Amino acid sequence: MRKHLVLVGGGHAHMVTLENINLFVEKGYKVTVIAPSFHHYYSGMGPGMLGNTYTPEGIRFATKQVVTQQGGVFVKDRVVRIDPDKKLVFTQGENQFSYDVLSFNAGSYVPMESVPGNREAIYPVKPIEKLMEASEKLKILFKEKPCTISVVGGGPSSAEVAGNVWQLARQVKGYEPKIKIFAGKKFMARFSQSIRQRVFDLFRKRGIEIIEAGYVKTVTKDKISLETGEIFDTDFVFMALGVKPSSLFEASDLPMGPDKGLRVNQYLQSVAYPQIFGGGDCIYFENQPLDKVGVYAVRENPVLFHNLMASLDGTDLEVFEPGPDYLLIFNLGGGKGILRKNKFIFGGRLAFMLKDYIDRKFIRRFQAIENN
Ligand SMILES: Cc1cc2nc3c(=O)[nH]c(=O)nc-3n(C[C@H](O)[C@H](O)[C@H](O)COP(=O)(O)OP(=O)(O)OC[C@H]3O[C@@H](n4cnc5c(N)ncnc54)[C@H](O)[C@@H]3O)c2cc1C
Repeated sequence: MRKHLVLVGGGHAHMVTLENINLFVEKGYKVTVIAPSFHHYYSGMGPGMLGNTYTPEGIRFATKQVVTQQGGVFVKDRVVRIDPDKKLVFTQGENQFSYDVLSFNAGSYVPMESVPGNREAIYPVKPIEKLMEASEKLKILFKEKPCTISVVGGGPSSAEVAGNVWQLARQVKGYEPKIKIFAGKKFMARFSQSIRQRVFDLFRKRGIEIIEAGYVKTVTKDKISLETGEIFDTDFVFMALGVKPSSLFEASDLPMGPDKGLRVNQYLQSVAYPQIFGGGDCIYFENQPLDKVGVYAVRENPVLFHNLMASLDGTDLEVFEPGPDYLLIFNLGGGKGILRKNKFIFGGRLAFMLKDYIDRKFIRRFQAIENN
């Protein structure tokens, strides 16, 4: 029987493995990729797509096409749990797959506990497809009436979304919306005062309001209620609260980290099941807990690819080294950004241009595989 590699999710950490599926197939291994969408959207460019800088087609990677053209099998479905002892994967569509080696790159999600009722009209910042939908809705709303757009959450994705909603409104040239960020007690609390001040100054000039009066308790499509009892009217809501790893591991009784991510060792390998690997936002790297940023998912690629092949071949695994501090650039809309690398910080057009250049280069590299 051919050995079977199953990839759960076609996210940022699986890109190099997806690029090289033909090498697994040539060695006689079967490869199956299970993901809920035919495409994978590059999250770094998601806020820019919301703001109309990029088209949805320009920021996505054709997962299904890349898999099937190299002789792999693509299954459009969502994995709900696995049985690690029987080596079985179960999906929402009631499919079942056995595996010899399994790799998770199922990402993370925005917790929605504060939304008690209908979640349809409320837009989490992940999956990125939701930002695409939101952009289309907002283009219509800005033409119809003056409105309030609320962004719940006080981190960088909240700043990027607010800045790009502002940009979108200017492009649409309809009624100017009020944009409010509900930032808990402190906006961009994890960042230095220098970064915070730059965002505050820019947003003040644009009339974007940053509310630091307390945490949001409940959200409905037209009301934001704070723990303090204050209630704000709204016409549109984005949920940009910090992300959590996929809930798959809890459902599968796999060893997890404190964040409920798949607990992996230095080989990006489950600490309990040597034939299970993972990368990106869904893992807890026990040697050194990593920020949930695409940079780490991208850095994990070559090691994950090597170790999946080595695990099938029965050869040595490679160690993943997270590497030095990473370059962080926020897209704040209006062609402006803020860049941070170690202690070096600058903001403005150049920061955005650099991010735009890096992001376009990244996505072009992987989109090129579609035409191989
Ligand atoms: C608005 C926003 C902007 C960001 N900007 C940046 C940035 O500029 N730079 C940066 O470094 N980081 C950025 N991040 C963080 C970055 O998005 C994440 O770290 C990155 O997406 C992690 O990649 P991933 O492949 O692990 O997860 P994802 O990109 O979420 O990919 C996971 C994949 O798994 C699939 N999947 C999910 N569940 C299942 C399932 N049950 N079964 C099968 N498949 C499944 C999904 O469809 C998806 O294709 C940003 C995040 C947000 C929300």
